[in-house]
Amino acid sequence: MKILLVEDEAKIARFVRKGLETQGFSVTVSGDGDEAFALAAAGSFDVILLDIMLPGRDGLSILKELREHRNTVPVILLTARSEMNERVEGLNLGADDYITKPFFMDELLARLRAVVRRTSGETLSVLRSGPLMLNLITRHAQYGEEEIIFAPREFSLLEHLMRSPGKIFTRDQLLEQVWGYGFDPQTNLVEVCIRRIREKTDRDGEQFIETVRGVGYRFKPEGNRE
Ligand code: CA
Repeated sequence: MKILLVEDEAKIARFVRKGLETQGFSVTVSGDGDEAFALAAAGSFDVILLDIMLPGRDGLSILKELREHRNTVPVILLTARSEMNERVEGLNLGADDYITKPFFMDELLARLRAVVRRTSGETLSVLRSGPLMLNLITRHAQYGEEEIIFAPREFSLLEHLMRSPGKIFTRDQLLEQVWGYGFDPQTNLVEVCIRRIREKTDRDGEQFIETVRGVGYRFKPEGNRE
């Protein structure tokens, strides 16, 4: 798997490159935004790890232009703790995930694998996570042996989150991708729908959908739930 690592801090770039190469990934490093864009646009990478503040053009403008040109290469943003707005903007521009610096290599590897798994394009008819099962053909849901009745929009929202376990969706993305709204209807539609899903799915203290404060929601990957 070929990874483009865009990071201008030499220390971080060295650490990440080493960690990825140890796992057998092929890594190209760029510390300059203009060069990184040219490399990314040439299109021979399986994943891009993208820093935001860079000499030359910044990470978000690179991401924006790639997506405008229908380039769907998976992108994980490498963000600083203070870059909350950039993180949300990046997700809205089509980043697949983000990781906050400093991070452990294991965490980055887990996210990389999750992103690759869900972008590798397998078609599914059933989504499962622990006891929860959605049949996408019959639109039938079960918790263990018990049937769960979801309203159509609840089913669609849960399906959308469940298709990309671990990926964070902003409220705007969900409004657009699940409701088809290109505008903010100024209501708490998303919050209400999430609450109804939780009432039906969460039991024995187990929570499936996580609220990521100030950012959005994500379906907790299996093994990550409490
Ligand atoms: Ca930087």
